[in-house]
Amino acid sequence: MSNGLLEGRTTYITGAGSGIGRATALLFAKMGARVVAVDLNLDAAAKVASEILGGGGTCRAEQLDVSDADATRFLVDRLEADGWMPDIVVNNAGMGYIASFLDTEPEEWRRTLNVNVVGLANGCREFARRWNDAGVNGHLVNVSSMASVTPVPSLSAYTASKYAVEGMSDVLALELPNIDVTCIHPGVINTPIVRNPSIIKIPAAQIARIQEHYVKNGDTPELVAEAIVGAIKSKSSNVYAGKGTGLVVMLKRLLPRSWFRGILRSEAKKIGYLEA
Ligand code: NAD
Repeated sequence: MSNGLLEGRTTYITGAGSGIGRATALLFAKMGARVVAVDLNLDAAAKVASEILGGGGTCRAEQLDVSDADATRFLVDRLEADGWMPDIVVNNAGMGYIASFLDTEPEEWRRTLNVNVVGLANGCREFARRWNDAGVNGHLVNVSSMASVTPVPSLSAYTASKYAVEGMSDVLALELPNIDVTCIHPGVINTPIVRNPSIIKIPAAQIARIQEHYVKNGDTPELVAEAIVGAIKSKSSNVYAGKGTGLVVMLKRLLPRSWFRGILRSEAKKIGYLEA
């Protein structure tokens, strides 16, 4: 597949070793883009890179903890020096955890916000500064979540981080009119994020129900990758990707907050985020 949109462009994707990032890297490469596949887990990024190279595409794998601002700057310096400066950046790396608000300790808040918010800001700042200086009209794609529309019980820090991603993206778009900014809100996507959350502090029976929900009802990461390509093409500011996401966004707009919360509470009990 190659429709000219990504042909010959250099792209940078964080969290490219798994799930949505991996699917996006593979799709970008298939559409003719050069891909910088970035991940905390270098082996996972390297595996994606070799898949792309094996298919005749162009890719390099890079290890990075997105929450490390200095390391982000050094990596972007190297890319610039090597002639691999991207003009499309997908800030996708993120981590999940599952624990009630009362069981979420300050260190867990710090870790979640550091990766999901500060990490994303690090990527936006490094590229936006350089694009501004060079007069490049780049595109930042920031991966938030439907959790920013439908807050999820047992995911308080995660939900807060995804609201923050939307807020940050809105401010970026206001401050940097020469840069395209898209905030993507995936719904339930069947990826390892729910199979291996870094912290689990809810009963095993509940986590098993949540995992089953993702397997049975989740969309594929490829669907989100397609939505990201669509957003780059249309330069959309907000994109909701996955089954039923458009309806949920509309209900949130139309319903009184107390009704909407009632629906969320009963859904959370059905899925397993709250005790039934
Ligand atoms: P995933 O666990 O399959 O992939 C996440 C990748 O990010 C992993 O390869 C991991 O190694 C990498 N990563 C984690 N911390 C990192 C760090 N500090 N620095 C660099 N890389 C790091 O998860 P996924 O489901 O593909 O999630 C990707 C993004 O989509 C996340 O931001 C997630 O919050 C968001 N999202 C996922 C869903 C879903 O249902 N799966 C829904 C909405 C939003």
